[in-house]
Amino acid sequence: SRTYVITGAASGIGKVTAEILRERGETVIGVDLKGVEVAGDLSSHEGRRAAAGEAVQLAGGTVDAVIPCAGLSVMKPVTVAVNFFGMAEFLEALLPALGRSEAPRVALVSSMASLQPVSTALVDAMLAGDEEQALSIAGSLADASPESNPIYPSSKRAISRWVRREAPTTAWGGAGIPLNAVAPGTVVTPMTKDLLASEQGRAMTDAYVPMPLNSHQGAESIAHLLIWLTSVENTHCTGQTIYCDGGADAVLRGDDV
Ligand code: NAD
Repeated sequence: SRTYVITGAASGIGKVTAEILRERGETVIGVDLKGVEVAGDLSSHEGRRAAAGEAVQLAGGTVDAVIPCAGLSVMKPVTVAVNFFGMAEFLEALLPALGRSEAPRVALVSSMASLQPVSTALVDAMLAGDEEQALSIAGSLADASPESNPIYPSSKRAISRWVRREAPTTAWGGAGIPLNAVAPGTVVTPMTKDLLASEQGRAMTDAYVPMPLNSHQGAESIAHLLIWLTSVENTHCTGQTIYCDGGADAVLRGDDV
């Protein structure tokens, strides 16, 4: 069996992914604020390092796949700290343990929100690895209106761009590690529960995220793709953001690819 480390494993997409893998007989080490194997706070440098160290120890030194799902959608600096740096720094700490696997794989969660307007300065600060600067820019954007706030979209644009930049490097492609992201549309999880609870919220969401195929999706639709991307079968798909969004990307970007 393979050993998976999944962040955000206490809820939503991470939780369902962990459940499906366990049903298949795989070993899963969950990381989240509480309620799973490793309790840790991925919003801070210390928290990321401690959680990664504990996960590697529980895995016995070798990790076959990492699926970082931990994320926030509040329009505050902490969303940048968790969504981007809580992924990048955590993965960096897990690279040696992935290097001991015979078929190491990583799949992240971006979003169709990565296609929405972003703050270029914020995306650039994340990609430069400058957390202090990124948090300060996000702080200055926190007051922008919730409907057009660029903090969450910027965190997801940075994830998709990071995947594209890192996948071909010696640390990833050169080390035989496929690195990809899945971009969901509107997934029914605790993250979207309040939004989808009112007719007004649903109308707003559907205007931003048109989903002609089957409308809102369950977490398992994303879990199955994350699981394939991190399976032994995936030998050549890397650097990609794969939209699994009921057609939202096809509607919004149209021919612009
Ligand atoms: P969720 O809220 O159900 O789960 C997110 C998990 O992340 C929670 O268990 C939470 O405790 C954990 N988390 C938050 N802050 C943390 C921290 N500081 N340290 C450790 N863990 C922390 O949300 P979800 O819908 O399952 O989202 C999972 C991922 O999918 C996120 O990256 C989200 O941005 C992305 N996503 C979700 C949707 C959607 O519609 N639900 C759409 C696109 C992308």
